[in-house]
Amino acid sequence: MANIINSLDTQQKLSILSQDSQYDLACACGTKNDDHRVRSKDDTWLYPVSLPNGGTSVLLKTLVSNVCSNDCAYCPLRADFDTRRCVLEPEEVVKVFLDYYRRKVVFGLFISSGVTGNPDSSMDRIIQIANILRKREQFKGYIHMKVLPGSSDSAIEQALTLANNVSVNIETPGEKNFKKLSQCKDYLNDIIRPVKLISQLTQKGAPYSRVKQTTQFVVGASEETDQELVQYAGALYNRLNMQRIYFSAYQRGLGKPHLPGEHSHYSNKDLLTREHRLYQVDWLLRKYSFSDHEIPFDTQGNLSLVIDPKEGWAQRHPEFFPLNINRASKEQLLRVPGLGPIMVSRVLKFRKQNRIKEIQDIGKMNKRLTKAQSYLSFGS
Ligand code: SF4
Repeated sequence: MANIINSLDTQQKLSILSQDSQYDLACACGTKNDDHRVRSKDDTWLYPVSLPNGGTSVLLKTLVSNVCSNDCAYCPLRADFDTRRCVLEPEEVVKVFLDYYRRKVVFGLFISSGVTGNPDSSMDRIIQIANILRKREQFKGYIHMKVLPGSSDSAIEQALTLANNVSVNIETPGEKNFKKLSQCKDYLNDIIRPVKLISQLTQKGAPYSRVKQTTQFVVGASEETDQELVQYAGALYNRLNMQRIYFSAYQRGLGKPHLPGEHSHYSNKDLLTREHRLYQVDWLLRKYSFSDHEIPFDTQGNLSLVIDPKEGWAQRHPEFFPLNINRASKEQLLRVPGLGPIMVSRVLKFRKQNRIKEIQDIGKMNKRLTKAQSYLSFGS
């Protein structure tokens, strides 16, 4: 039975719940260290975020409740973990959020919750908050709503009428890995059904096509390999119209002792590097026209912790280099280690007028251009 503290005022509850929301990313909130978050004077945590369409801003991100009847072995909010529990009433969240919003401290709201019993009753609190903001307060700004595992089709549809962005945490690739994380949740019905329904209802031409779907994976909790994560991510982008995928390194000590992540050969620092490498791959898939089959893995199916995946690909494809910088296509140039989209645009612009004779023609020498130079030739 959860030990719910009822004597707290709104700010005290918000302080606990916004801090606990760090375990629930799915919006690129920084959680590696507190520098990525801003602690406001009233002890609430505000989160700088990368937006799905680019750019960054600040969100008020909070759980409505950290009471949870689920058993996710990686999560410090799981039912059997002894922690401070409290619940915010929808009107409390609305009041605090509008106060921040009107003072221009935040631009939007991210709401999530622990799951108590029937997921729809927890979803209902989230929906109530968005409903009050949209209908009574005429709030037109950004709302990200978590769709809780096991939510019904009708609760999902209600969320879609109110949100700009929704997310279901997939957490790990595939049912086999998922079973190592939770016995309460049913992978296919509680996680994959909502993801597929949202995809269907938000695709081009569908009733909620303005709503974006994102998701999150915990890295290193269930012994999943990077290859499994990347292939899964590729399928989500290609087949289910996923807008962004976020990765969060599991950090030892937070989960149950039997969790595979508590015993893996990766240190906490390695797991943060894995998370970083997965984000690099994510960029290759979304912005550099790589397919998931081209990403280089070691014999165990993992990414190198030492070199970035684009350089790993280049080292395995000597036949592709040196690439003639004056003739290569945009897609080819994007495969050169050290060249990103901005530098490639600069190359394309420069060579419309002049032949590029040396790397300094496109920018001041730095680490990235020094790396790129060794993969390029400069003939006409
Ligand atoms: S559903 Fe799982 S991940 Fe979410 S709060 Fe409950 S125990 Fe944590």
